[in-house]
Amino acid sequence: MFDDQFDYVAHVSAAGYEWIPGESFRRESADPGEHVTGNLLVPRLSAGSEVARAIQPDHQDPALFRDFADLDTSDPDSLLAFANQYGFLEHGERGRTEMRAELRAEAFADWVWHIDALRCVIRVHDLVQEGDLAALAPSMTWQPAGPGRPNGRWVFHGYPGWWGGHRSVFTMPSEWPADLLSAYPGLPPPQQPGLRPSSYPVTMDSPTPGDDLRLVARAWLYQVVTDTIGHSVNVRLNADRATGKARLRVIPSSLCQLLWFQFSRALIAGKDYRRCKECRGWFELPPRERDRKVFCSPACKVKDQRTRKARVAELRTGGRTPKQIADAMGMDIETVRAWIKSTQAKGK
Ligand SMILES: [Zn+2]
Repeated sequence: MFDDQFDYVAHVSAAGYEWIPGESFRRESADPGEHVTGNLLVPRLSAGSEVARAIQPDHQDPALFRDFADLDTSDPDSLLAFANQYGFLEHGERGRTEMRAELRAEAFADWVWHIDALRCVIRVHDLVQEGDLAALAPSMTWQPAGPGRPNGRWVFHGYPGWWGGHRSVFTMPSEWPADLLSAYPGLPPPQQPGLRPSSYPVTMDSPTPGDDLRLVARAWLYQVVTDTIGHSVNVRLNADRATGKARLRVIPSSLCQLLWFQFSRALIAGKDYRRCKECRGWFELPPRERDRKVFCSPACKVKDQRTRKARVAELRTGGRTPKQIADAMGMDIETVRAWIKSTQAKGK
């Protein structure tokens, strides 16, 4: 069920998005106490902003969750660039073409929460894969049996920004900015904020203090994924195009759910990922090309070669010998000679 691509369709505002200042935000669910401040992401209110383009993020990039988790949360522009490409995180297919017909806004704090959360689970997953027990150990404590607790248990402690931070799926401001109010008449009333605990008891079958920390960490990862996306999953039964056999498909209902499903797929299938040498984006490594594939796409490969060719030509013009260039660039001398020759031929 998880070997396939996810058919999630994102509807992205053709006019793009922008951050607008929300004076203070509160979250929708009824946990009292938290007060979130920050910006709101909204579709740009310019001519044509009601138009949406439809894309299938998982078909474009099965490793998108890793790029998302690498976004710099101190830089709202990098989040905005992601939104301009893939749309809202949590609004999913709602709205479709009518970008302005209903309230559509997401809080900066929500984006940061999802980025932190995915970054954290990816880090734990990578440590499990690498078998780095020393790095995993500080996150886990064994709590022996005691009053009110007949059995001992493992507790996982969050990384900075994880669980203890702001969690507000669809955050509402206490006061809407005037221009947003005029654009979206009848905005819903502000909602109540809340906090989450920063430590999580891990659900395992008969845990013991001697458990392999990788098993504990995995159990925790499964639990986090289940808690995050398990409550609202769409499934579709349809016929496989190639075989005609019935199959059950999971259809993510939002971009954020898709990113977590991509992570689940990585957990289940044990996928390997690498950063592209050219664009630094993540890509899924095909099993047979584990050792040699270094570019995410043919375009990046071409771009890298163009850059290196230009550098070789530059060094040559600067008076370096092919041998010196080959050493400096970590290339073989035959290739360097061939490139110099082709550049000279072009120059004539
Ligand atoms: Zn690339």
